[in-house]
Amino acid sequence: MIKALLFFWLLLLSTAVVADANVAAVEESPSEPFTWPGGAQLAVSLSYDDALNSQLDNVIPALKKHNFKASFYIVPNSPVINARMAEWRATVKDGHELGNHSMYHPCRASLPNREWVPAHHDLDSYSVGQLVEELTLANTFLKAIDGKLERTYTVPCGDLLVDGQEYLSEISHLFTAIKGHGADKRFSPIIYPEGETGEELIDYIRNASSETLLVNIVFHGVGGDYLSVSSKAHAELLAFLANNRDSFYVDSYINLMKYAANKQ
Ligand SMILES: [Zn+2]
Repeated sequence: MIKALLFFWLLLLSTAVVADANVAAVEESPSEPFTWPGGAQLAVSLSYDDALNSQLDNVIPALKKHNFKASFYIVPNSPVINARMAEWRATVKDGHELGNHSMYHPCRASLPNREWVPAHHDLDSYSVGQLVEELTLANTFLKAIDGKLERTYTVPCGDLLVDGQEYLSEISHLFTAIKGHGADKRFSPIIYPEGETGEELIDYIRNASSETLLVNIVFHGVGGDYLSVSSKAHAELLAFLANNRDSFYVDSYINLMKYAANKQ
C-alpha cells in the first residue's frame, strides 16, 4: 500500500515537472505582435446603446459616409424598436451589428442617481435565473430580426451583481464576447462619452496605451436624446478615423472579437 502511494506521488511529481517544462517552452518562443487586418495595431469599436432615435437619424448617415461598420446594442422593450423596426432591420443590411443589451435594461436601483429605474426593472430584485432567461430571450428576439446565431453583449448600466451575486459567469455561454469583460484585457478598455468635443474624443484614441489593442467607445445619444455628444463631435471623430485607416482599424465589435479569437 505504501509503495503504491509512493508511486502515485512520484507520478504526480513527474507530471508537474513536464507541465512546467511545457509552460517554459511556450514562454520562450517569440510570439508575433498582434495586428488587425491591414496591419493596424489599434482597433476602434464604435457602439451605440439603448436603441435611440438620434442613432437612426444622425449616426447611421454619418457611418455610411465613411463606410464604417458599428454595433447597436438595442433594447427590444424600447418604443423606438417597435416604431422604427424597418430601419433597424436596414442597419443589418448595411453591415452593422445588433447586439444584446437585455430585453428591459434592468439596473440596480440602489445605486446613486438611479431614481429612473422602475421597481419592476430593478436588478436588485432580480434573480440570476431570471436574467439568464431575459438575455436568452433577447438573443431570440434579435435572431428574429437579423437571423444571426452569434451575438455580443453590453452590460446594462455596467452592473455586474444580481441580488448580490456576480452573474457574467452564468451567461458567457450565450455570447461570442462581452464588452469590457474578456479574459484578455488588451481588448477591454471602454469609454462612455458624454458632452466631449471631437478633439477630446480623438485624444482618447491617440492616448490609448501601447498595450491596448481595442478601444471600445460606447455612445448613447448623438445630436439628441441623453448621455449625448454633438453630431459635430461625432463627425469629427469619424473623419479622424477615416483619415487614419492605416493606424486605426474600425469594424463592428463582433467582427473584431471573432478576428481576434481566430488569430490568437
Ligand atoms: Zn444601456
